[in-house]
Amino acid sequence: MPELPEVETTRRGLHPLAVGRRVVATRIYDRRLRWPVPAALEKNLDGRTIDAIDRRSKYLLFRVGPDTLLLHLGMTGSLRAFTSAPPRMAHDHFDIVLDSGVTLRYRDPRRFGALLWLRPPADAHPLLASLGPEPFDPACDAAYLWGATRRRTAAIKLALMDNRLVVGVGNIYANESLFRAGIRPTIAAGRLTKPRFSRLLVAVRETLADAIAKGGSTLRDYVDSRGEPGYFQLDYYVYGREGLPCRICGTAIKSVRQGGRATTYCPRCQH
Ligand SMILES: [Zn+2]
Repeated sequence: MPELPEVETTRRGLHPLAVGRRVVATRIYDRRLRWPVPAALEKNLDGRTIDAIDRRSKYLLFRVGPDTLLLHLGMTGSLRAFTSAPPRMAHDHFDIVLDSGVTLRYRDPRRFGALLWLRPPADAHPLLASLGPEPFDPACDAAYLWGATRRRTAAIKLALMDNRLVVGVGNIYANESLFRAGIRPTIAAGRLTKPRFSRLLVAVRETLADAIAKGGSTLRDYVDSRGEPGYFQLDYYVYGREGLPCRICGTAIKSVRQGGRATTYCPRCQH
């Protein structure tokens, strides 16, 4: 599943190709994404100039004058750029053709992605309005996380993955960040001290920044690449390493279920 680093890498890859460009044609081949692609989308988008591409959580926001084209990659979506678009394949659901001749093509085998048209103010849209701060936002500091989790009995890992507290920390990055911070994923968020939130926030930012940096190395293949943009294979400390020795202390990594997802941690390094 594309997580924040993959979405941010997509944004950075698109930026030089699409910002300042006019859309000359929008071709929707299959409107059945997570929500139906709005019938008027082509009419709204064609002839308009993309002024900026922002990211909020895992949403890509193409700013078009006062309006916003929202794209979410869902579970299996990817947006790639072609200077000469090859024939459309199965699972290619729409093309956006720019005045430079570049075609942005969306592929999504499972069709959990979304393409929506937002009138201003975009931030008030239900998908965006309830989102917590970005992890790199200076306002998202240890004092904020500590204050927002007092009296919360939910486990810290589940709190960290709750988009209302902070956005963009998916399962992989929650597991890895908690390891780096030395925090047991199952302890109640409300019991975590402010200094430990401070260490956790540093770990979240470092883990995401490492993945984004890794993604940067895939950008050179962004244009005209037919390959699937893969997941960034980091050298994970705990994710997917159940039963293997901890890279720090050698203890076997344990796995438990939390909120239907696998949590992996080192019983010795994390407490
Ligand atoms: Zn360990």
